[in-house]
Amino acid sequence: MKRTLICGKDKRELTEEEYRILKQFYSRRTYFKKWLKTYRLKCHCCESCAFPTFTSFNSFEICHVCGWENNDYGDDELLWANHDANDPLTLLDYRLDIGRKLKITQKKFNDQQYFKYAVRVIKAHDNDFEKLCESELTYEEFQKPADELFASLLKQLNV
Ligand SMILES: [Zn+2]
Repeated sequence: MKRTLICGKDKRELTEEEYRILKQFYSRRTYFKKWLKTYRLKCHCCESCAFPTFTSFNSFEICHVCGWENNDYGDDELLWANHDANDPLTLLDYRLDIGRKLKITQKKFNDQQYFKYAVRVIKAHDNDFEKLCESELTYEEFQKPADELFASLLKQLNV
């Protein structure tokens, strides 16, 4: 069955696999948004991978999980080329790419374990980030250990 993605004036045909990946993205984002609310975390979900890796909306941070830059693109700009002139990929390309990588992961983790672990790491990262903001401590003292936690998460997730 053919699926057509329509974004404003732009259209793209999706394969069944791409359609499934997009559906997984939306359920992952819904899931994480619920977690953020439950734990009252100030993170924002990445528009490419849906992991809550950003400290605020439109912060121009680079996502630790998928490499997306946190600009103001979202569901309405899926088919636009990224604003970075050196990056011809669209937000949809990013979503599909990380979606394919995460699919491998889902064979290894059942959803509950996988999400709980990811959220624990992200929460630790968020706490460290807040400490960093409130203190005079340096990147090496706080942000670096948090980044290392993220790196170990990614290693375990095979991303
Ligand atoms: Zn991401």
